[in-house]
Amino acid sequence: MPAAVLDNQRSLLAQLDTQPRVRDFLARAVEAGRTSHAYLFLGSPGSGKLDAAWALAQALICEDSGCGSCDACVRVARHTHPDVHYFAPESATGYLISQVRDLLDDVLLAPIRATCKVYILDRAEQLRASSANALLKTLEEPPKGVTFILLGTSSETILPTIVSRCQCVPFRMISPVDAANFVARSTGLPQERCRMAVAIAGSPTRARAFLKSAERQQARREMLRAIDSLAHADEADVLASAKALVVAVKAPLAEVQSTQKAVLERDADFLSRGALKQLEDRNKRELNARERSGIMEVLACARLLLRDVLIELEGAPGGIVNADVRSIVERIAATAHPAAIVQALDAVSSAERAIARNVTPQLALEVMLFDIRKALSCPS
Ligand SMILES: [Zn+2]
Repeated sequence: MPAAVLDNQRSLLAQLDTQPRVRDFLARAVEAGRTSHAYLFLGSPGSGKLDAAWALAQALICEDSGCGSCDACVRVARHTHPDVHYFAPESATGYLISQVRDLLDDVLLAPIRATCKVYILDRAEQLRASSANALLKTLEEPPKGVTFILLGTSSETILPTIVSRCQCVPFRMISPVDAANFVARSTGLPQERCRMAVAIAGSPTRARAFLKSAERQQARREMLRAIDSLAHADEADVLASAKALVVAVKAPLAEVQSTQKAVLERDADFLSRGALKQLEDRNKRELNARERSGIMEVLACARLLLRDVLIELEGAPGGIVNADVRSIVERIAATAHPAAIVQALDAVSSAERAIARNVTPQLALEVMLFDIRKALSCPS
């Protein structure tokens, strides 16, 4: 049986093969029942901190230390377990005080399905001032059965009052080549494909998920097609492309939505109205966050395509990432000047900033495609 098929039944912790030291350290702590109430995972982007956070959450929530196959494990792996909460900054300036208050209210409630609860806080450097202060006391002494997992790039960028309350776990840096090798080994897919997936998704585990999702790969193709066709696109074509992209990005959300609905319907009878409302709010936030990360992913696809065009034009070493669509790279390179590509890359950065500021995806994509079209149509 290929490894990719087995993946679903293996514990997430066992799959942390790019961070063996972290994996063994966490596995030992879980085994001995001596996990900390607050962890701070530190490492550069792509080092697999978020994967490790979900893996630890699974090991804590499962009654069998993260068997990988029980109902609880499957729910955690799908990010639908009601006792594992994921938080990321909801504003461009960082965590909102209202987010931390929601979190603190939730911490006081009993677990819904498991016997413990896990809170994952992404980008802990964005816990600042009042939002950080509100959290400190609970972080130091959470109620029994509550574990915090904070993620950050380095301890210097995080408030010392937060760092001192957590057990720090350093993650080693993983080169893109190593990451692609890991993905290739565990999926049996060609190295070239894995390299592309790592470049788009960031970490090996997310790359594997990308390679398993026909819808996410379709969204990538939609973005590549949109940029490829800009040379001959009129205004209506550009608007249609942006619309098609939003539809493609939302396609994978249907499954999340139906899982959420099923959970709500099943739990509706034994949840209090307050808990139900909280679950609904969290579902809404989750859908928003998923849509945003889907948009960010297609923007990453646009960036990588343009970067490949630049590599093609300048003959830079390393080779292109989008080897499966080399003809598109060559077509754009045939008529574009490096300066135009740099300008087009700026348009992608602007779109990323717009999405972070909560501009609607449709609008951000329209503006970006028009700007790229303008950049590419400048005579070389
Ligand atoms: Zn389990």
